[in-house]
Amino acid sequence: MTAEIIDGKLFASKLRTIISKKVAELKSLNDVVPGLAVVLVGEDPASQVYVRSKGKQTKEVGMKSVEHRLDVNTSEEALLELIDNLNQDNSIHGILVQLPLPKHLDESLVINRIAPEKDVDGFHIANVGLLGTGQKSMVPCTPLGCLLMLRDYHGSLSGKNAVVVGRSNIVGKPMAQLLLNDSCTVTIAHSRTKDLQEVVKQADIVVAAVGRPEMLDGSWIKPGATVIDVGINRIDVSNEKTKLVGDVDYDSCIKVAGAITPVPGGVGPMTIACLLANTVTACCRINQLPEFEGLSS
Ligand code: NDP
Repeated sequence: MTAEIIDGKLFASKLRTIISKKVAELKSLNDVVPGLAVVLVGEDPASQVYVRSKGKQTKEVGMKSVEHRLDVNTSEEALLELIDNLNQDNSIHGILVQLPLPKHLDESLVINRIAPEKDVDGFHIANVGLLGTGQKSMVPCTPLGCLLMLRDYHGSLSGKNAVVVGRSNIVGKPMAQLLLNDSCTVTIAHSRTKDLQEVVKQADIVVAAVGRPEMLDGSWIKPGATVIDVGINRIDVSNEKTKLVGDVDYDSCIKVAGAITPVPGGVGPMTIACLLANTVTACCRINQLPEFEGLSS
């Protein structure tokens, strides 16, 4: 058996087309341009790449893109003041503070300062609570992208046995919550889970968000299961060359799984597409316009 490849790059491009059309409609019918502000503190190279990519794609779909690049030594007070200003700015509907922040800044304090309706990352405590109680919220982009691909592939997820490996606040926990809200039977596994391999082997749906290169191999996967690989790990290959791999050993899993997302080209592109979608959703809600259909939680 060879698994069907779930092409996140293609799916993300279809989503961006839908988003572009919605943005054009908002402009022409409602005279509103969705705006996304991204705040980057410091010069972490990976964060710089992400921020550049987010800005580029935001403009490509016709939205307003604003970047605030702050010095690594920026004070908490100055950062909070910037967020307060963005909260008040009517041309901005989404605010994203790129994580991780330098150590002297309190991440929770900063994230919780963002107005919940503009929190397009879905990390504000109010949005976490709304998601946890099955209410309308802003949903974290990476898990939302995974959910959309799973729904697209399976149709209904009801009754499926899902195992999420990883319990971070940004991926594992919201992913588990979304699967639960879609009526999966959900197990969250982590570094203390006993017999992890056996736990994963029970799953109809496996979401790997561990941060360990190629940790889950084909012997862990139930034949026919759907494998969503969230991991992004850069590993050395040879002659100072590196490559990106996931948390799943793709070559062995593709022989056993029913469907699998590749790395790169799976969850990664969906994450940014969902950020754009969340910004449109936020813009519609703030302006009391009908929900952005098809992508909202
Ligand atoms: P974290 O490091 O915050 O969390 C990792 C989780 O994996 C923890 O819950 C940890 O358990 C668990 N874990 C670590 N080692 C093991 C192990 N040996 N066995 C079982 N569980 C283990 O990572 P993130 O959630 O932020 O990210 C996970 C991966 O997803 C990373 O590769 C990251 O780069 C990638 N990522 C990709 C994104 C995308 O857009 N595609 C976006 C965000 C992340 P414990 O809690 O017990 O320590």
